[in-house]
Amino acid sequence: MTALVQEMADPAALLGRVHRRFASAPGPAYRCAGGRDLDFGALYQASAVLAARLMAEPDAARRRPVVIWGHKDLRYPVAYWACLLAGMALVPVERDTPAGRLRQIVEQCGAGDVLIASDADGDLALVQAALQGLPCRIHTVDPAARLAGEAPTPAPRAPGDVAYIMFSSGTLGRPKGIQVTYGNLVDFIHWLPALLPEDGLQAVSGNIRHCFDVSLFELWVSWTRLHPLVALDHADFAHSTAYITRLAEAGTGLWVSTPSITRLMLKNPRFNGQMLPGLRVFLFCGEPLTRQIVAALFERFPGCRVVNTYGPTECTVAVTAADITPDHLARPGELPIGAARPGVQLRTSTGAPRGELLISGPCVARGYLNQPEKQAHAFPAPDCYRSGDWAEQDAAGDWVFPGRMDREVKIQGVRIDLNDVEAHIRSQPGVEDVVVEPYVLRGEPRALNAYVIGDADAGALERLARDLAAELPPYLVPRFWYAGFPAVLNANSKLDRSQLSQAADVAQHRHVHHV
Ligand code: AMP
Repeated sequence: MTALVQEMADPAALLGRVHRRFASAPGPAYRCAGGRDLDFGALYQASAVLAARLMAEPDAARRRPVVIWGHKDLRYPVAYWACLLAGMALVPVERDTPAGRLRQIVEQCGAGDVLIASDADGDLALVQAALQGLPCRIHTVDPAARLAGEAPTPAPRAPGDVAYIMFSSGTLGRPKGIQVTYGNLVDFIHWLPALLPEDGLQAVSGNIRHCFDVSLFELWVSWTRLHPLVALDHADFAHSTAYITRLAEAGTGLWVSTPSITRLMLKNPRFNGQMLPGLRVFLFCGEPLTRQIVAALFERFPGCRVVNTYGPTECTVAVTAADITPDHLARPGELPIGAARPGVQLRTSTGAPRGELLISGPCVARGYLNQPEKQAHAFPAPDCYRSGDWAEQDAAGDWVFPGRMDREVKIQGVRIDLNDVEAHIRSQPGVEDVVVEPYVLRGEPRALNAYVIGDADAGALERLARDLAAELPPYLVPRFWYAGFPAVLNANSKLDRSQLSQAADVAQHRHVHHV
């Protein structure tokens, strides 16, 4: 595997070689619930047939991106590989995306083709209705298609050509399309052997929606090592035992997840090393990783490896990695996000030990589609990205993520950093995680709300507020405390902060702290 990716700098050559290995690989590539498997051989054939169809289109059409519409279906990798072989930019869009937003995305990126990677009743009609009047072709994907002759040679492309466009998960305003090039993608694939040197992982989790770039860890480990990906349909979150059984049957060795997904899985006592003896590596990305999650994994999966990676979509999945050890758990403060991946340079904007993290190197994506102002702000130079994240280096030289920079509010003239308040509450015993948001009345932030994740009841919330009041000035102590609400995840399976005000209505436990 290492040799396979390292000798190949040319994107078309690398992709062609990975694809050709599918032809003779035994066993499944993509496994869905209900025993529905797509074998590597079928992936090879069906994607080649679809690629040939896309490549037969006129040149002008082939320069336009291709939307792949679906969710965790056998057709998804077929559509994905068809775009990669054809050298066309793919745009993953989840099937629960509202019709209006799908239309906006297709218009904004000028997609010429839309591939329906789903066989759910009514999906084709739904997409056709959403895109009525737009100049794009809609194709269904046949995972059983077989080649009549040779597979097409992957279309030539330059490293600067766009490989995929990810649209931000925000629900308000104009979706923001982040363009990532084939050069960025190849650089990411080259990182994987060093990041995950383990042999014989056997199978890979399929936790992450394909519209979120963290899924690239799962997809490319599966494809470069010829291991099956065990897909989790997000409608099946409630049936985690069935998913655990499928992961166990496949002998899954690598788990890729946001901390929020793992927190949900840990609620099932069967998520442990007896049920999943092959599971050796837990790789996180996307959100702050908490001590409670790591401690639970060390206990339930003795000897496992826990890797915390960090990165924005604008820098191709992840740019740092840290192996989290029991020593880290014993130290105070946030868990590290680690050291830069090879080729990446990290620095703070002012050169001070703590500041905004600037990321440079071959990971930095081309940037935003048709949004010159946002582009100029976020990409001060072509290969440099301004993250909007605070960062600092700890005594061991590892980078630490203290929070987003846009989390300051003013209450009665006092500037409050919500990250700081969260960090204080998180360090109290019994708190799994917490989100602090301003309590807004008539458009003005008046106080703080604390949403505590974990088992706290009203008494525990009261104690937390009292302990915090003994440590911090009164304006930093949240007035309204909530616990016992369902953690709603967004499209990227991160905790959805925008849903927390609703959590206040349904919280089982609450406390009001009076100064
Ligand atoms: P996205 O582009 O959706 O992947 O979001 C990227 C943002 O998620 C980063 O800029 C960080 O704010 C946050 N993030 C990603 N990975 C981590 C991590 N390991 N720890 C803390 N925050 C993270």
